[in-house]
Amino acid sequence: TRVLGIEGTAWAASAAVYDSAAETVEIETEAYQPDSGGIHPREAAEHMGDNVPAVVERALGHARELAAEDPDYDADGPPVDCVAFSRGPGLGPCLRIVATAARAVAQRLDVPLVGVNHMVAHLEIGRHRSGFESPVCLNASGANAHVLAYRNGRYRVLGETMDTGVGNAIDKFTRHLDWSHPGGPKVEEAAEDGAYHELPYVVKGMDFSFSGVMSAAKQAVDDGVPVEDVCHGLQESVFAMLTEVSERALSLTGGDELVLGGGVGQNDRLREMLGEMCEQRGAEFFAPEPRFLRDNAGMIAVLGAKMYDAGDTLSIAESGIDADFRPDQVEVSWRGRASD
Ligand code: ATP
Repeated sequence: TRVLGIEGTAWAASAAVYDSAAETVEIETEAYQPDSGGIHPREAAEHMGDNVPAVVERALGHARELAAEDPDYDADGPPVDCVAFSRGPGLGPCLRIVATAARAVAQRLDVPLVGVNHMVAHLEIGRHRSGFESPVCLNASGANAHVLAYRNGRYRVLGETMDTGVGNAIDKFTRHLDWSHPGGPKVEEAAEDGAYHELPYVVKGMDFSFSGVMSAAKQAVDDGVPVEDVCHGLQESVFAMLTEVSERALSLTGGDELVLGGGVGQNDRLREMLGEMCEQRGAEFFAPEPRFLRDNAGMIAVLGAKMYDAGDTLSIAESGIDADFRPDQVEVSWRGRASD
């Protein structure tokens, strides 16, 4: 199966081709960089409109090259079997542009459409790359933070943020410092030179909250605590919260595999904490490489191929977007029922 994936939920105008026989993923991305502040939905949508056509054409170029090497390829046929796109969650104005592009390309190539949940794609890319059967997944992304596990045909949300996404919370703190977007990598760098500064730690049951720790971090900087120390303390608090809930999810489900997803997963300290926790309990831990952690169309194409193979396609009429599309709304069509 060869799939064109298109992603554009927030900042990444991205298209990719996944070839399941060759097991290759070629990703083309144009990132939106705000001039100031965080992501502006209207500017981000303009970025999608300006860049999605070009990344799609580049990805289709890769698809044609892969098709030419495929002995089963009919030279008059389309270079991909389907077009998969991010239906949500994400910024509505961006999602609408991506969905329109996906419909146009699918009609032009005369292939089916596959509608992918962006958060389930963050999770499934880790399962795909690790080969784990039924992992617990920590999705630590910009706009979200979920701990998920599969049960009876759906990915169940075991724990989640009660306020902002984890990456967005970090970015809000760095906006207060007038650091450019995205803030996560800058906090990681500053934290290396800092000493521990204690900040609030809020886990309630299986859910976490980031707003209090962010307010306290801003206040600490305003009170003159060295910014490196605040960054260090911030990472320790926030990542320990994510690690605690992930550990409890492993314990409650009896699972012994954990995968990480989302852009915040690029952080070495988070990966170190999760890795140590798993090692201590005899569980396996896997984090995909950075190009599959941050938003990317590769994960959309990979899950799109699994959905296509399971017959899980959409008509144009059904292909509306859903800005609040939750991972537990997805009826999982592509997994064997054996592990239900
Ligand atoms: P979602 O996937 O929920 O729609 P998103 O589209 O904003 O979220 P992602 O690409 O998953 O995006 O993640 C982007 C976030 O990752 C940003 O908030 C950014 O600050 C954060 N991030 C990137 N690198 C690092 C890092 N090294 N450490 C911490 N956070 C990071």
